Amino acid sequence: MLLFRVALTSALLSSLLFSQNDLKVTPGFDLSAIDRAVNPCDNFYRYACGTWLKNNPIPADQSSWGRFSELAERNRVILRQILEQAATIAASGAAKVDADTQKIGDYYASCMDRKTIDAKGLTPLQPELDRIKAMKNTVDLSEEAARLHRIGVDVLFNFSSGQDFKDSNAVIGQADQGGLGLPEKDYYFRDDPKAVETRKEYVAHLARMIGMMGVPAATAQKQAAEIMALETALAKVSLDVTTRRDPMAVYHKMKLSEFEGLEDSFSWSRYFALIQTPPIGNLNVASPAFFKGEEPLLKTQPLAVFKNYFTVHLLQSMAMNLPTKFDAENFAFYGKFLTGAQEQKARWKRCVAATDGDLGEALGKAYVQKTFGAEGKQRTLDMVHNIEAAMGQDLQQLTWMTPATKQKALEKLHAITNKIGYPDKWRDYSALKIVRGDAMGNSLRANEFEFHREIEKIGKPVDRLEWQMTPPTVNAYYDPQMNNINFPAGILQPPFFDKQSDDATNYGAIGAVIGHELTHGFDDEGRQFNPKGNLEDWWTSADAKAFESRTDCLVKEYSSFDVPGGIHMNGKLTLGENTADNGGLRLAWMALMKDLAGKTLPPKDGYTEQQRFFLGWGQIWCENDTPEVQRLQAQTNPHAIAEYRVNGVVSNLPEFQQAFSCKAGQPMVRGANSCRVW
Ligand SMILES: [Zn+2]
Repeated sequence: MLLFRVALTSALLSSLLFSQNDLKVTPGFDLSAIDRAVNPCDNFYRYACGTWLKNNPIPADQSSWGRFSELAERNRVILRQILEQAATIAASGAAKVDADTQKIGDYYASCMDRKTIDAKGLTPLQPELDRIKAMKNTVDLSEEAARLHRIGVDVLFNFSSGQDFKDSNAVIGQADQGGLGLPEKDYYFRDDPKAVETRKEYVAHLARMIGMMGVPAATAQKQAAEIMALETALAKVSLDVTTRRDPMAVYHKMKLSEFEGLEDSFSWSRYFALIQTPPIGNLNVASPAFFKGEEPLLKTQPLAVFKNYFTVHLLQSMAMNLPTKFDAENFAFYGKFLTGAQEQKARWKRCVAATDGDLGEALGKAYVQKTFGAEGKQRTLDMVHNIEAAMGQDLQQLTWMTPATKQKALEKLHAITNKIGYPDKWRDYSALKIVRGDAMGNSLRANEFEFHREIEKIGKPVDRLEWQMTPPTVNAYYDPQMNNINFPAGILQPPFFDKQSDDATNYGAIGAVIGHELTHGFDDEGRQFNPKGNLEDWWTSADAKAFESRTDCLVKEYSSFDVPGGIHMNGKLTLGENTADNGGLRLAWMALMKDLAGKTLPPKDGYTEQQRFFLGWGQIWCENDTPEVQRLQAQTNPHAIAEYRVNGVVSNLPEFQQAFSCKAGQPMVRGANSCRVW
């Protein structure tokens, strides 16, 4: 799904990857992936992955294909087995079916039932479409915005809950920008030929969606252009992705009345009544300028434009459970044009993803029972402790930080908590009604359940046991406000973590991932939060300056990397992730060296322990991408593309250069230009 509805809190979560994307289990260390024709000191990524890249073209239903996707695909097959079994059990009417199995089975079976979905046509959405059509004034518009938000449709702005940046024990309301159909603000304003083409294609897509509602082509064209103009006006007052990485730029706490005054043409009292929020005292308004900028639009834009805008966003958001033609049209733009995927994913893959999205912890419980053993948890925990110890040692040894700030950094490090595998307390879905044969209704109710679950948190104590990713997810994250690192069961498998493999490759792979998440607590964003997760400056100004001069080095390094289509990586947008990659690999290295101290192991498969460590890192990133996806990633994503995640890091590390006997002047040796923060 490409309609980004990024809540403020998840915008702050620093994850390892962009998105969730043969049953063959790939080993943690893969000799057959290596391309020996490449000199590792010229291009380590091509050396570690070259043969893999040649042998693993992107499948037609994907826009990128790498080690993450291989594992995600394998997880998907396991989830499919669980769901097909649950669907059969749920249909059996047996008395003893547990509630979770009943729900995931019915949900999946309904999603897979394309025939019923097509037969129902637009009927399941008709009440919503009628309400939009009947809007007569801004009060109606405000009420409809509330209804659409409840069912997960992104229009006008976003409202949710989140921890107060300056008081992580308090959950408050969060109002944020939103309502765009293109991935990001700058998509509306860049003037290179590809950007112009993208806007043209987007408007054509909107017109086709409107046309499918029976509107004549010429009228549909005109309406699409008006929607585009409205979204462009919203984009104009939005913050861009790079700015939004700065917590201070998205923190403006105010009284409810003050917030409402920013956009007083909107009927906030009706809106809040309909979303059923608990009493709101103060709230965080991520971008007051956005709401101020939206106000004149409510006055000047005809209601008809809002009606068409609401309708199209509703159709886009629900396309998967609408008749095939809507679904295909949505894919044609968001899948094919924007990401370069050639064909829509098989229905079962999408229904697995939808069940994971809507009932993730009910499905995750079954997944964990099937795949995740106590041994995996224990070995991961041991590695986490070793890498935390390495970070402590690294902090002590730093030459650029004063003792006072070091002390504070150590306090923060020791306060970090770990969550491994799956939640201790599973989510209770009993309030969510799932009806077999009602795919759209299930999706709408699940979105409402989720929206309500978030809104309900306002004014309540923070739930520190909650997870932001489901157990099968092949990803990991650091949460600056919780000050915790989280590793779902889905990533604790080969090639990231391989029980059969030696420590060297495991440290280079999952060890570096652990180090990556840990370092996020100390990147340009994470360092602004204290041990308790509150936004508070605990740095002396001299130390902050020293930090910034070091991160400037990374900004320059990664900004120099090209992406096809004549664009560069954005060194500022990717700074947090690059800091985490560079720090994370170094911490994993330190932990491995401590493990190996005094031991000289004979080479294995022709590689020393040191070389195997770096190959472990290189090979988790083997990945083919379409040019479209690389462009999208470079322009919207805080993560560098795979090749640079590998080469950008090793070229800064003398330890790598020593392991592969690289010489000064070779591309993987930055020498005096090497960057190092942690
Ligand atoms: Zn990250």
